[in-house]
Amino acid sequence: MNPSTSAPAIRSFVSSKAERFTESVIREMTRLAMKHKAVNLAQGFPDFAAPEEIKRAAQEAIAKDINQYAITWGAKPLRDAIAQKFARTQGVETDPEREITVCCGSTEAMIAALLAVLNPGDEVVVFEPFYENYGPDAILSGATPRFVSLRPPAAAGETWTFDRAELAAAFNTRTRAIILNTPNNPTGKVFTREEMEAIRDLCVQWNALAITDEIYEHILYDGASHISMASLEGMRERTITINGLSKTYSVTGWRVGWAIAPPRISDAIRKVHDFLTVGAAAPLQQAGAAALGFPAAYYDKMKVDYLARRDRALDFLGAAGFICYRPAGAYYIMTDISRFGAADDVAFARYLVEKIGVAVVPGSSFYSQPGGGAQQVRFTFCKTEQTLRAAADRLAVLPQMHGFKS
Ligand code: GLN
Repeated sequence: MNPSTSAPAIRSFVSSKAERFTESVIREMTRLAMKHKAVNLAQGFPDFAAPEEIKRAAQEAIAKDINQYAITWGAKPLRDAIAQKFARTQGVETDPEREITVCCGSTEAMIAALLAVLNPGDEVVVFEPFYENYGPDAILSGATPRFVSLRPPAAAGETWTFDRAELAAAFNTRTRAIILNTPNNPTGKVFTREEMEAIRDLCVQWNALAITDEIYEHILYDGASHISMASLEGMRERTITINGLSKTYSVTGWRVGWAIAPPRISDAIRKVHDFLTVGAAAPLQQAGAAALGFPAAYYDKMKVDYLARRDRALDFLGAAGFICYRPAGAYYIMTDISRFGAADDVAFARYLVEKIGVAVVPGSSFYSQPGGGAQQVRFTFCKTEQTLRAAADRLAVLPQMHGFKS
């Protein structure tokens, strides 16, 4: 039989789930930055060195032959260190034997958590703009996201806000969870205690979970403080806290994150995680245990360093003609690009990377509806002074090119 004549037409072989989302725009922008030799202010990874102590701890772990699988839900020293740090910084006591699952980055912790708790038809409330992973995460877990708008600040000194009635209306009997990211990517919003309590009240009223991505917990400005949802009265039993080493210790490529949840939920997360990846890199988990014990001075210095980078970026972006939404946390600045007269964010981001030599993330990557974020782009500033200066120099041509004074 000649297969070329008798075989049926080849089918697409792509699942309907995979067809429903696109490649990550953030990662794509990094590739474009490399292709065009642009300064990469798109993907949020530090281009400066990780702390010596964490690097040494990883080297020692490998030398000591911690090179085989750790326990699937995480090496005990790391789980113990996570529990101690959560108790020390947020006053939340957890049992490292039953309530912590170490994953390959908080990215895996989030999808493992969602796969562990969601059924097809469940709804998940998500504030919009949102970190782009949450969209595909919801699709992969069969759930339907219900978006609630975060509104940009109307005036300097204000912050992104949400409408309490709109949030309340997003909850119903199908709501299984809300995903909360504070400090927030991409807006830089740090949710206040009052806002968290409003969210808590809805979770309790509708018997829903809070799944909180707290990866930027130590990157805070202007006196903002981070509050873990699990520390609120009534939330300990209905919160999954996601966190990781990446941002706090500048090791985004190590892929070590974790989920903290009550035992029944952790059991489910551990099963999902085990069959997804078995476990995170064992020697890097060992190094993570050392890092989590760093003294308070480490976090204080990191905050001071990021404050300087934020203010530097606010300065040169403002001078270049961007309207900046001043972040109170995390290491991104959402900007309004309407002064440049671009057709949309994607066209403007392409122009910036190809013609100006600076890569950013188009705002639409953080919105669900067509048209959302069409006049916004996101910059990251977790970069060395050298990188920031190169970006500042390149962007400085914009006001003249676009015919306005900076
Ligand atoms: N969280 C970072 C960002 O938003 C990096 C995401 C990633 O590429 N994994 O840019």
